[in-house]
Amino acid sequence: MAYDRNNIFARILRGEIPCQKVYEDAHVLAFNDIRPQAPVHVLVIPKGEYVSFDDFAAQAPAAEQAAFVAAVGKVARQLGVAENGYRILANHEKDAGQEVPHFHVHIFGGKRLGRMLPRE
Ligand code: 5GP
Repeated sequence: MAYDRNNIFARILRGEIPCQKVYEDAHVLAFNDIRPQAPVHVLVIPKGEYVSFDDFAAQAPAAEQAAFVAAVGKVARQLGVAENGYRILANHEKDAGQEVPHFHVHIFGGKRLGRMLPRE
């Protein structure tokens, strides 16, 4: 899938749409999810143009991948959820229900999160 420069996270990165920023560095931005599903629900996104996890894993230079992984850990510690625990999740494409076509990792925390997947 080609990258859509008008997706909502691209617009957040360009400052065209506001976000509640929790972390930023040269490669990464993290902000609160607009429809939180846990007391802590933060989205971590690379600044590069990657459609999904699959695109990021296949195409991003190793330095960007390493910076992203380090940032996810740093954000979770900054949010205070590293001690009690948290869940990270990335939806890729249709079967996972990916809504926004710019790679992002969700960080959920702040309560017992229950089963990994709902029962069918
Ligand atoms: P996905 O289903 O693609 O993994 O998750 C997309 C997430 O982006 C959803 O949890 C949704 O609530 C969040 N989201 C969609 N639009 C916006 C927005 O404009 N601002 C913020 N902060 N989050 C958004």
